[in-house]
Amino acid sequence: MIEKSKPPAQLPPGIAVDGSGELARRTHAEPPHAYRSPFARDSARILHARSFRRLAGKTQVFARLASDPPGDHFRSRLTHTLEVAQISRTLAHALGLNTELAEALALAHDIGHPPFGHAGERALDQALAAHGLGFDHNLHALRIVTWFEERYAAFRGLNLTVAVREGIIKHSRDYSATEYPELTEYFLDLRPPLEAQLIDLADEIAYLTADLDDGLDSGILSLEQVREGVALFRPFHDEVLRLYPAAPPKLTVNEALRRVLNALVTDLMNQVRTRVAALGATTLDEIRLAPERLAVLSPAMEADRAAAKQFLYVNFYNSPAMEEAHGHATKIVEGLFAALLADPGLLPEDHRAQIPTEGLTRTVADYIAGMTDSYIEQVWMRCGGR
Ligand code: MG
Repeated sequence: MIEKSKPPAQLPPGIAVDGSGELARRTHAEPPHAYRSPFARDSARILHARSFRRLAGKTQVFARLASDPPGDHFRSRLTHTLEVAQISRTLAHALGLNTELAEALALAHDIGHPPFGHAGERALDQALAAHGLGFDHNLHALRIVTWFEERYAAFRGLNLTVAVREGIIKHSRDYSATEYPELTEYFLDLRPPLEAQLIDLADEIAYLTADLDDGLDSGILSLEQVREGVALFRPFHDEVLRLYPAAPPKLTVNEALRRVLNALVTDLMNQVRTRVAALGATTLDEIRLAPERLAVLSPAMEADRAAAKQFLYVNFYNSPAMEEAHGHATKIVEGLFAALLADPGLLPEDHRAQIPTEGLTRTVADYIAGMTDSYIEQVWMRCGGR
């Protein structure tokens, strides 16, 4: 049963990021808006950015190519992003955190992803590794919002608040100041605020449930296989079968998955509340100085989540059914990378202008990383690829 628990008490108000404080500072000072908070403005800036719109054409699991998806309703990286934003808003609201900041971070969390999902990211990272470089989608997202987006006459980038820029890089991992001296502005020795910590798990919860849905809907996963292999799914599905014995299988899946999602979100919310209380924290500074991140699932739920993720890797993401698409992605990313490196004249003017400061290799990677699935195909064809 979905537990009819009472809503969790909100966290002490001093823990939420304050929209009028130091974290709302922008690199280029701007007058405050008459009726919008700095983080609401950041959310809107991300939503109106080109890189955000391009998420519609980027793979979440299935490529966004006319020939490829087994249907037109499977998630793209854009619809995945909107699902993460919905979950993040719910969590932040229920915990009394800054919902506008959480939403801005959720909307930005995947804008650094290259075309063709993880296969594309792996191919790009490997192409860069041959030149002693690497691809990190969090750092690429930071470069997008601080440089590649051009919408203002007075500066490059979106001039986002420091809280949003910090959250963009730190939502899923920490960076050491010795390894990344260029990031010292982002309080690398401190934990990110809870609004940023929540995004990583909101992302995990969103794609875990969505990918079970899309995996089943595509026919790559069978209901029997998910019931057998996903301990998190089966008890909820059993409950639905008891409640609605005549329901079509598709609806029993939907009913079970929304229970799974609710259970994960509720567990996360309760854990955050419990861990903040155990720490005795009442201020953001205490969250930042905590020995570890506080936005985590309970050990039992975390084990179920990890096992479900493992199931998806083996049976869906890396299944034989996906092999052809991954091979196609790798071939195009590798091929285009080599072609552009060999003939930088193929790069558009504004990207060529980056070569003196960024170097040719990084410039090529930046150009490729910005592309949608169909655009990289077009460029690849234009460059003579087959
Ligand atoms: Mg994501």
